Amino acid sequence: MASICYRITPKNPAAHVYEVELTIPKPAAAQRVWLPVWIPGSYMVREFSRHFVTVTAKQAGKAIALDKTDKHTWQAATSGDADLVVTADVYAWDLSVRASHLDLTHGSFNGPSVFLAVEGREWEACEVIIDPPADERCKGWKVATTLTPKDVRMTGPTGGWGRYHVANYDELCDHPVELGTFDVVEFEAGGVPHAMAVTGRTRFDAERLKADLKAVCDEHVRLFHGDDTRVGRAPMDRYLFLTMAVGDGYGGLEHRSSTSLLCKRSDLPLPGMTEMTEGYTSFVGLCSHEYFHTWNVKRIKPAAFSPYDLRKEGHTRQLWAFEGITSYYDDLGLVRAGVISVDTYLELLGKTVTRVLRWSGRHKMPLADASWDAWIKYYRQDENTPNSQVSYYTKGSLVALAADVTIRDATDGKKSLDDVMRLLFARYGANVDGCGDGVPEGGVEAACSEVAGIDLAPFFDEYLRGTNDVPLGGLLEPYGVRMHLRPLDNDADQGGKAGKKDAGKRATLDVSLGGGDDGAHLSVVHDGGAAQAAGLSAGDVIVAVDGLRVTKGSLLRMIGERAPGDRVHLHAFRRDELFEVDAVLQAPPKKAAWFAIDERAPDEAKAKRDRWLRPRG
Ligand SMILES: [Zn+2]
Repeated sequence: MASICYRITPKNPAAHVYEVELTIPKPAAAQRVWLPVWIPGSYMVREFSRHFVTVTAKQAGKAIALDKTDKHTWQAATSGDADLVVTADVYAWDLSVRASHLDLTHGSFNGPSVFLAVEGREWEACEVIIDPPADERCKGWKVATTLTPKDVRMTGPTGGWGRYHVANYDELCDHPVELGTFDVVEFEAGGVPHAMAVTGRTRFDAERLKADLKAVCDEHVRLFHGDDTRVGRAPMDRYLFLTMAVGDGYGGLEHRSSTSLLCKRSDLPLPGMTEMTEGYTSFVGLCSHEYFHTWNVKRIKPAAFSPYDLRKEGHTRQLWAFEGITSYYDDLGLVRAGVISVDTYLELLGKTVTRVLRWSGRHKMPLADASWDAWIKYYRQDENTPNSQVSYYTKGSLVALAADVTIRDATDGKKSLDDVMRLLFARYGANVDGCGDGVPEGGVEAACSEVAGIDLAPFFDEYLRGTNDVPLGGLLEPYGVRMHLRPLDNDADQGGKAGKKDAGKRATLDVSLGGGDDGAHLSVVHDGGAAQAAGLSAGDVIVAVDGLRVTKGSLLRMIGERAPGDRVHLHAFRRDELFEVDAVLQAPPKKAAWFAIDERAPDEAKAKRDRWLRPRG
């Protein structure tokens, strides 16, 4: 019997429209088809069916009725065995890593935003045909994807036009596709071919990128599979980084053998550039993060995602482990691979701690609840988020670090979180389609206790189910790493470094500032701060301090020149209404963290630190 077949065509790139045709052999009576409301890895209901412009059905060449039964389900008036063909025009103008995009320069799409699932037959094998655009202006386009080719005219090492084979709908949703004239960088890591396709107007040092990516990928493969590449092969046949470089943007989404990335073109390493810029560090950190997900969440999955139910939210309290542990290992992987220095690693750690401390919501929301409510909170952030929430990425990564150190201490350095990850992979890692065993709620905590040989429930009660700060200072001291806390230099201070000497004497409004050059735009007014006490709100635009016009930069400077306790007169706009308030400035909160190597610590501390940050010397 012929299999279910999808055909996708960039039908009108100028109008951003794909045509997607779905052929269903032997349809059921009143066959239903449905579209996911979310995409795995991005925990928000996005309702991709909003962008289905027209949807029609035919059987034996004749149009038949197709009724919508809810926001994302269609039911066809089928009769008899003849193939049901459902055809949709899909509007694609979302340049994030989560949906689909098409214009005359390139196309990209994710399965959940374009391919309808056949109800009752989601686990059947199917085929997908990717057709080239007919538009002359798209001549020379190539294909990049990790879909399995069946009958494909290859346009390069990463794919081509033609027919691909997919084991089931879950897999169809897990291979994003890029179309266009991207550059390709190829390398080998973990015993399998890897490539990065880079779309966008950019110039970059391909050799440097290749060397750094290989080092990071090898590091993660080694963590899970050991040094022997004969047995320690990466769990996918090949891996593809799909990178879109733009003027301004940031994001990544993990898949089983690929990832979609969005970055600033200035984050890529320019030819001739040798230093590790902040932008490039953040880009390789993003690559490292998404690559680690190949194991942690794409194979080791929570039971709540085994399998994914893409028609409604899937709740779990374990995102701290799937995102937080991944966030811990993204930078740790960079330092272990030698891509960044230990000093840079400690600076990044200081910035993460500062971000956590800056959110007073961390004392109101337990980390476990942040995960459960990701759908309506973390993914739908607003001006009150820092005052009411905690991030399972940042605090999750600190809990992961604290768990790692706690396990090392409990086992005399013989075991670590690395062993927990290997244990989880051995136990749950065969779950790529989500049809096997997922990690039950509490399963990661149980694995930590198992490896540590002691009950870590009190640890998780405090930092995961409770709202206490992780005591990193005390935990890292035996590693010869000292944690320092100092007042923020100003409201834009990100921490990570020692800071200015006289910071404590400076004043602050305790706000976060957004963009805009017609004044100082308040994006967050922190709880208990001077701005909040004065009656200022997020969204307000401060236009003058003591009668002098200000921008973001000059506001920071003028407030920073004043002393705590000083009173300033502010002019601000709320909507189109000008108002004036007096604010009594405060001392900046002591929330900027930085870490430094303690050179006087005993040799034993250095040895411990090396086993943690340089396990392979
Ligand atoms: Zn992630």
